[in-house]
Amino acid sequence: MFCGIVAGEVPAFRVADEADGVAFLDTRPVFKGHVLVVPRTHLVTLADLPAEALPGYFRLVQRLAVAVEAGLGSGGTFVAMNNKVSQSVPHLHTHVVPRTKGDGLRGFFWPRTRYADDAEARGYAERVAAALAGP
Ligand SMILES: [Zn+2]
Repeated sequence: MFCGIVAGEVPAFRVADEADGVAFLDTRPVFKGHVLVVPRTHLVTLADLPAEALPGYFRLVQRLAVAVEAGLGSGGTFVAMNNKVSQSVPHLHTHVVPRTKGDGLRGFFWPRTRYADDAEARGYAERVAAALAGP
């Protein structure tokens, strides 16, 4: 599924497409603007990621955390990765979730919402992508 998004065969609201990975909106976000960052190659868990790929991949995750906050005007972010347990898609992915003080997210209870329509999702993707590109 995520390999299909990387290959461009499965539609997604992309925010980044780089050598170190691809980032796109989660279709069932915890909060709108929730981004998934995946390596281009098919790997299942963090343990599978080669050491030489770590700096590039996590640098991209770091940049997305900054871009989500800047692009969406959120108070902060929650960055997380499930390995095996609670890992809904068996392709390594890091969640970058916009957070706002008082947003009600506590512990590891993950409520999910939906975008009203494609136009709303596209708007969130464009704001994060623009912040990633910088001024
Ligand atoms: Zn895959």
